[in-house]
Amino acid sequence: MALNLSDLRNDLEAFAEALNREEYAARAGLKAESRAAPIRERFAHLGSRDTFAEVRSAASSASDPEERRRLTYLAEFLGATVIEYRLRARLDRLASAEADQTIVADGEQLPLRSAEVRIKNEDDRARRAVFDRARCAAVSDLNGLRREILEISHEEAQRLGFADYTACCTALSGIDLAALRDLVLPLLPRTRDAYQELLSWYLSRWAGTDPGRAHRHDLARVFRAPALDGSLPPNRLREAAEAPARRMGIDPLAGGRIRVDDAPRPSKISRAFVAAPRIPDEVILVVRPGGGPDDYAAYLHELGHALHFAHVDATLPVEYRRLGDPSVTEAYAFLFDGLLRERQWLRRFVGLSQPRDVLRFTALHKLWYLRRYAAKLEYELLLHGGKSLRTVADAYRDILTAATLVEWPRELYLADVDPFFYAARYLRAWIFEAQLRDLLRERFDEEWYRNDRTGPFLRDLWRQGQRVTLEGLSEQLGIGPPTLEPLLKQIFEDLG
Ligand SMILES: [Zn+2]
Repeated sequence: MALNLSDLRNDLEAFAEALNREEYAARAGLKAESRAAPIRERFAHLGSRDTFAEVRSAASSASDPEERRRLTYLAEFLGATVIEYRLRARLDRLASAEADQTIVADGEQLPLRSAEVRIKNEDDRARRAVFDRARCAAVSDLNGLRREILEISHEEAQRLGFADYTACCTALSGIDLAALRDLVLPLLPRTRDAYQELLSWYLSRWAGTDPGRAHRHDLARVFRAPALDGSLPPNRLREAAEAPARRMGIDPLAGGRIRVDDAPRPSKISRAFVAAPRIPDEVILVVRPGGGPDDYAAYLHELGHALHFAHVDATLPVEYRRLGDPSVTEAYAFLFDGLLRERQWLRRFVGLSQPRDVLRFTALHKLWYLRRYAAKLEYELLLHGGKSLRTVADAYRDILTAATLVEWPRELYLADVDPFFYAARYLRAWIFEAQLRDLLRERFDEEWYRNDRTGPFLRDLWRQGQRVTLEGLSEQLGIGPPTLEPLLKQIFEDLG
């Protein structure tokens, strides 16, 4: 069958729209059960190996650079979709098994999916440990199925013509994962002292322990941060997020293209998320505000995504509106959740007279994320690098323990893995976002988020969708190659 690119592009658009609508309805609590399966079935031809191979070869022979770029993004999407479809039945089985799993601890029975919330809200350390052990045991019960999923994804990457899974992801994304690992690993020694000092302070006050004895569940407790709930109340969140957008000359609802769903529903998931059935015309920002640093960060992050999607040039081809390098949209999302690390934003828009407590905490949180994701990338390269699973489970525990400085459970070594090295997208985005923030401060003042010249500048970036990679954007903006310096400098300043 001859390759019909225009049909393929239309199908991609229709598929994304249908899945986004479905995901919105299921996660926002509008319907009990997800009906994603029939949608996936209807578009099963997007998971065809032959189509992938044809698009990939068309990309390599395209003489027009724009067409080559579009086909490259399309090939990346199709390659991932082939692997996804191959895993689908097992992924569905895993999801429903996880949804059905319960744990019993300390005389309580609860769904596995509520365990983490239970753990972070538990002040009693011994009880927290009991719940955490039960949780890890339950996760471990499904590791057989996760192993199967891992093995099939490795096999499918080879069937697509790549040496292994890592080579497949590297080739399709164009990201040199090994080089990125080498770039980010120095984070660990360079931030170790600062992280350890902060961590000790919070562990002793908020979790009743110290880094020498602390476990992952103690960190979960620290990041729950009940002491900061009063500073970051739920009712102030939306205005604190939207007011700076308006000051920059950005309509927080993008002329009606963004719809905010803040209706309370019992089965609405608590974390904010964005569904984008149509980019840029229909973007839904779903939120169920509970307050506290996590909630603020999640909402601001998703607002950043929503603003980006809703400002994409509608005339761009679907590859540039939907596909491309997701590090780009993550960077815009980080720019907004980074408002929590802006002293004057905390003062003016949240109304804190002493922003230092929040700043210190968010610096710890950020350091933890960076250290954890640098470690995750290192580990995932090992996991997909053909070592025996016994060795990698130990490596997982060791690498994550060394990075987080708390005892990390070995059992999570297959559950804590993002498909297609998504950790790399975050790491790249954090590095770029810090460089972009420096540029914004330089051009639009320390309080760039209050300057009406910042809005047009950001809108110009957002308009491009994800046509240009982070490297391309850096070049456009004269930011220079990726480097850790601005990122580290900003965190150390927050601590000062
Ligand atoms: Zn995101």
